[in-house]
Amino acid sequence: MGSDCLFCRIVAGEIPATVVRETDTTLAFRDIDPKAPVHVLVIPKEHYADVATLAQGDPALAADVLATSAAVAEDEGLLGDGFRLMFNIGAYGGQEVFHVHAHLLGGAPLGPMLARDLT
Ligand code: AMP
Ligand code: ZN
Repeated sequence: MGSDCLFCRIVAGEIPATVVRETDTTLAFRDIDPKAPVHVLVIPKEHYADVATLAQGDPALAADVLATSAAVAEDEGLLGDGFRLMFNIGAYGGQEVFHVHAHLLGGAPLGPMLARDLT
């Protein structure tokens, strides 16, 4: 993927980001437009379009993304009060960047899971 993908370019150091944790396989950095007091994106360094593709293609790497997310939550002091971890997938999911990323949100009560009931 590389140069066409925003998050691959962050991994490559071509676009700056506020990195809060890095492992051999993952990177965690602050969202540029935060929606909560803590809003961190956690990605695998290797390009996968979304979490479904990642989980089917490399389950161990998907586990690395979760483990890094938990470590960042601990670093940010979120484990006591709780937090939200979510993946947007595709058009209905509202995904805008097609390099899989976990949104780690916390630091305040986050309200309902969805803005409105769609049933
Ligand atoms: P999604 O809609 O799930 O694809 O989320 C994409 C997220 O990437 C949004 O929350 C954006 O604010 C965030 N974002 C876009 N560009 C950057 C960037 N250069 N650095 C950090 N976060 C970004
Ligand atoms: Zn990418």
